[in-house]
Parts: sequence; C-alpha cells; structure tokens
Amino acid sequence: MSRERSVLVVDDEEYNRDLLSRRLRRAGFHVEVADGGLSALARLRQCQIELILLDSMMPDMSGIELLKLLRGTYSQSELPVIMATAMTDSEHVVEALHLGANDYVTKPIDFPVALARIRTQLQRKDAEEALRVSEDRYALAAQGANDGIWDWDLISGEVYYSARWKETLGYQDDQLTNSIDEWLDRVHADDKARLLEELTQCRRNGGPAELLSEQRLLHTDGTYRWTMVRAVVRRNPAGSAVRMAGSMTDVTANKTFDPLTGLANRVLFIEQLGRCLEACRIGERNHAAVLFLDMDHFKVVNDSLGHVVGDQLLVEAARRLERAVRSSRLQPALGGQDLVARFGGDEFAVLLQDALSLEQASAVARRILADFQAPMQLEGRNLNISASIGAALVSAEYLEPADILRDADLAMYRAKAQGKGCCVAFDAEMRTRAMDRMELESDLRMALERNEFVVYYQPKVDMDAERVVGFEALIRWRHPVRGLVPPDRFIPIAEETGLILPIGLFVLREACQTIQQWQNEFPWKPPLEVSVNLSVVQFRQADLVERVREVIAEFGLDPAHLQLEITESVLIDDMERAMAVLAALRELGVGLKIDDFGTGYSSLKYLTDLPFDSLKIDRSFLKLMCEDEGASEMVRNIVELGTRMHMEVVAEGVENSEQMVHLRSMGCKFGQGYFFSKAIPAEEIRILLAGDSQLWGGQWVARAGTCDNALRPELA
Ligand code: C2E
Ligand code: MG
Ligand code: MG
Repeated sequence: MSRERSVLVVDDEEYNRDLLSRRLRRAGFHVEVADGGLSALARLRQCQIELILLDSMMPDMSGIELLKLLRGTYSQSELPVIMATAMTDSEHVVEALHLGANDYVTKPIDFPVALARIRTQLQRKDAEEALRVSEDRYALAAQGANDGIWDWDLISGEVYYSARWKETLGYQDDQLTNSIDEWLDRVHADDKARLLEELTQCRRNGGPAELLSEQRLLHTDGTYRWTMVRAVVRRNPAGSAVRMAGSMTDVTANKTFDPLTGLANRVLFIEQLGRCLEACRIGERNHAAVLFLDMDHFKVVNDSLGHVVGDQLLVEAARRLERAVRSSRLQPALGGQDLVARFGGDEFAVLLQDALSLEQASAVARRILADFQAPMQLEGRNLNISASIGAALVSAEYLEPADILRDADLAMYRAKAQGKGCCVAFDAEMRTRAMDRMELESDLRMALERNEFVVYYQPKVDMDAERVVGFEALIRWRHPVRGLVPPDRFIPIAEETGLILPIGLFVLREACQTIQQWQNEFPWKPPLEVSVNLSVVQFRQADLVERVREVIAEFGLDPAHLQLEITESVLIDDMERAMAVLAALRELGVGLKIDDFGTGYSSLKYLTDLPFDSLKIDRSFLKLMCEDEGASEMVRNIVELGTRMHMEVVAEGVENSEQMVHLRSMGCKFGQGYFFSKAIPAEEIRILLAGDSQLWGGQWVARAGTCDNALRPELA
C-alpha cells in the first residue's frame, strides 16, 4: 500500500486494543484507538479515519448502537465498518450487517483474516470513490460545458435525455418522453434531412463510430437554437449499432454573436428580421424598420492606425450604437425589443421593432449620428468618425429579410453618395434606379464589341475670325433599346468598372484617325485640331503615355493637333504623379487642356505649376454670366488670367449671341456651344467641311468674310 491508511480500533479492552493496533501498525497502517463509543466519535471528528474495526460489545455504548449512529445521525454511510463479534453471536452479526456494517470478524481475532478483510474493504471504498470522482468529474464537465446528455438504446428504441438536454430546449425534466421523435420533431426543416442521413449512416453496419452534427432545434420560446451534437456509436460483435450516446451543446451564441463587439451577428439579425417580417405579413405587427450603417472612411483608420485601433473603434461604435438605440444585447430579445447587430467589417444593422414609419426610423438614425459626433479617444488619439445610414421599412410587401436589407443598403449607398455622415430613407425609385444601373452596366460590358459607341464632334469656334478651328470628340452610346445614352449616364459606370480604359482608347483612336482624314482632305491653315476627354481612371493608368504615343504614331498625326482634356479632379488625387504624367504627355507634344475650369477645386496652383496650354471655362458660368455680375466678373478674371499665362481660353456652353458678344468683349477668343453647333456625327461634319462651310448661329453659313450678317443681326 503506497500511502498509510488510517484505521480506528474501537474496543473497551485495553489488551485487545494494544495487540491489534501493534500488529496493524506493523502491517503499515496508521492506527487510532478508542475505548468506547463516545471516544470513537471524538476520534472520528479529529482524525481522517478510513475504516473502523468495531467491537460489538462495549459497556458505555454497544458497537451496534454506534453503528446506528454513524449510518444515521452522522451520515457516515461510506465509512467502512468491520464488526468484531463473539463467535457465538450470530444474531448480532446479522443485525450489524443489516444496519450497514460492511463485514465482520470473530473474536478472538484471527489477524491474517482481519487484515484481508480490512484490505478488501479499503479497496472497495477506493473503487467506489474513484467511480464517484469520475462520475462527479463527468457531471461537472458536462455541466460546465452546458452539455445535455442523450443515450439512445437502438434495440429498445428508448432514448434517455438528461435534464440539461431538456432544459436547453426550455423543458422541465419530467416533460419529454423517451422517444427519439422528441428530438427529431424539433429539428429545423432545413437541417432535418441532413441529420437523418447522418443518423442512418451511423446505424449502418460498419458505419462511422462517431457522430458530429450541427442543427437548429426548436425551443419552447419559439426560437431555434443552434446545437452541436457529438456522439459515439456502440456496435455488437456483428457490427450492428446497438447504442448511440453523446452530448448536445447549445452553440447559438457562437453562431449568432459577434465576438469583437458582443453584438448580434448577421445570422441572428436576419433570423430576427425574418420573424419580424413574418409578424408583419400575418398582420400581427404593423411595421418595423431597419437601419443599415456603414462607417465612413473606416478603411483609412484601419490602414493607417492598425487593426488594434480599428477594432477598438468598432467596439466604441458598437457601444454608441447600442446606447443610441436604447440597447439590446440580445438575451432572447424577443417581443418588441430593438436589435443591434454587427454584420462584419464596419457594417452594422439595427432592427427597430417599434418604428412605425421611416420618419421615426430616421429620427433614431439622427440620434445615432449625433452620438457619433463626439470624438473617440483611442490610444491617446482623438478620432472623429462619422457613419452613413440607410433606412428601410419592414412591411408585408417584402418576401425575404434579405430584400429589406438590400433596400436599406441601397439607401445607405445613397447616403454615402450624398456626402456621407447622413441618413437616407429608402424609396422605391431607388430600387428602379439601381436595377436600371445594373442593367446598364451589363449592357455596357458588351457595347464595345457590339460596336455601339460612336464619336460625335462639337466644333470649336474662333469667335474673332468667325471660323471653325477644331472639334471636341464626345462619345455617344447608341443603345439598341434605349437609343442614344448620354455620356453622363454611362461614363461614371465605365469608370467604376474599368471599362473606361478600352472605351477611352476607342475614342482616342477614332478622334485621331478622323482628324487626320479631315486634315488630309481639308488642308486648312492652321490645321484642324481635336480635343479628347481623359477620365481620371485613364489618367491613373500606368501606360497612358505609351498608349497615346502609339495611337498618334499609328495615324501619323502631328501631336500638336491633339489636345487632351483633363478635369481638376485628376489633379487633386495625387499631385506629384499628375505632374509627372502631364510632363511626359507634354514631352510627346500633345496639348493639355484643363476642362470645366472654375468648378470643384480650382486652384491657381494648377495653372501656374502645371504645363497646361489651354483652359475651358465651365459652362455653368456662362449660364449665369449675363444676369449675375459676380459670375460675369469671374469669367472676366479667368479670361485675363489665362491670357496672361499665355493659355488659350475656350468658353464652353455658348448658347446665344448675347453670351458670345459678352465673351468677345472680355477678350475670350474661342467658344464652343449650341449657338454654333451641338456635337454631331463625323459624316455630317465632313459634308459641311466639304461644302467649304462655316458654322454660325446654329446654322452653317459661308466661310469667314462671307457670312450673312442678317443671320446674326447683333453682330451687324
Ligand atoms: P465635357 O467634356 O465638359 O463636354 C462638354 C459637354 O457640354 C458635352 O456634353 C457637350 O455636348 C455639352 N455642351 C456643349 N455645348 C453646350 C451648350 O451650349 N449647352 C449645353 N447645355 N451643353 C453643351 P456631353 O457630350 O453630354 O458630355 C458630357 C461629359 O461627358 C463631358 O463633359 C465629358 O466629361 C464626358 N465625356 C464625353 N465624352 C467623353 C469621352 O470620350 N471620354 C471621357 N472620359 N469623357 C467623356
Ligand atoms: Mg471636355
Ligand atoms: Mg467641360
């Protein structure tokens, strides 16, 4: 025996006590002694006794009485007791065994026999304890893991479900029967077929030894809980399954909560939204609303300050959101409670169960945005961050929760487009527009190979010499169903999708080829020139300069007769790169024109630092010029500025003679606009050039010098 076991010897006769204890000590025991019942009880209290050797006959209290006390009042039911009785006293032996004595020895004690019985009892005790410990451990483990236990006897068909198993689904221990259907009938329709198949596989001869399966089970509260089932399969020697037993764990939390913020996740949100939608559809509820929120510029924070700060920011945002939405860390958040969820990344969604209208939802959104305005203190920094929110109403017309989210998302995108940091409520027109856009995008992908693009040309007029000097190439899309689609409709889509690169190249080639033809056919002096618009996306293209060089070479065009029009947005992107690209283009010999000047971010710096040789006054100024002194002043300043910097100044959008007169009086030499001509197809321009014509006042008239002043009396 590895450890010293302690035995209590109870005997009123000193001789017996001493003899026994000496021999027991020699056998390796720790021995305590007591001379009667009372002192035995005292010993038991003071020492860790593992077994009692108890004399049945003692004067103060008989061994039988002490045994009764131990098993009864003192609840020492597990302490092994061996009675020592007189040989003749079989009556006492029976009574003692009846009262819970574990064994007996007869007096005078045959020591080897006593020793064997003591050891047997101690072993039994150890075994029982080990079993209890392992049972406890298992029970504790199961409890700790929140596991329910089930045990399916495949022969009788009976299933044992533990109390915890039932509790997981909201039942009392006495509520469910022992049928397998108690389980299977509660499995979510979408998970059932799979589970049944898995069970069948396990039961099959030679099937898998273990089962690991996830499924949703119906709780008494009407929700589905995600559960993880683990089990082992027992087979008989023939290999057929006879028993399947294992655990069932509620993993809903893992499935449905966002670990970073503790908010509900997308899965739970959609589930809840689905229930809410169902309530609307069966008329149990009037309305509810969904807010879809996306942080503005989150990527910048994440990329520049790192993921740790990014995460902290999301957590803080989650807290503010919850606060603003007056909370719902969902613990079965049913019945009229709002739900805040994180969808992943920097996207959040809120389900406002009580919102009756989009106005009410927008009011909550405004509260959220107000809450977001206070700077966030993260890692000793003050960060200002805003969010864009889209709102959509949950109503019976929707079929799926995903449809509502799609609409809220659309509205959110609109909020982003409107300058971020605001909330936009969804309306049906947005969907029409979005679908229209999607359609347009897919058509656009095929437009090039279907040859649907054409380049139109709008004349640029020398307003002093009264003659056409060049053209701006403007793309047109001849859509098979929609007819002519204006560039403002499809250029942004082409830019977003990257399609602008092949399209832009197409325009450039068309324009170069056409102008070269016209120059050959109509060798005017100075030669006709062409302007081509360059998109920001083209400008960012790594091999732009190379492409332009190739095209010029391909058609043998003098680069001086090609102008590239660039808007200021190209420049603010990355000034340094812009400078390098412009310089390289300049090197090629092409002209550079700054388009739509005066809008957006116009800065004098662009004019002084960058190699532009031409600027185009935006047509919005021309519109105002004749009524508004300020606009008129602005145009005058731009013209003077351009002239002083030796740039060619072109006024865009000249629509009437009044504007033209005004511009000329300011010293603006070149004009483009409907007053002279709209953009028209190349063939029409060619016919007119062939007719040795010039465009004036919306009509083609005889060439310079011979124009009919009657057509433009204001010039007479
Ligand atoms: P933009 O470069 O500023 O072109 C001038 C726009 O003003 C043209 O519209 C033209 O038709 C219009 N316009 C000309 N005169 C008048 C006038 O007197 N009154 C009014 N109200 N408008 C006038 P368009 O052709 O619809 O093109 C719109 C924009 O689309 C262009 O603005 C340009 O930014 C872009 N775009 C057109 N073609 C191309 C192209 O091939 N490539 C790229 N990247 N963009 C293009
Ligand atoms: Mg232009
Ligand atoms: Mg323009």
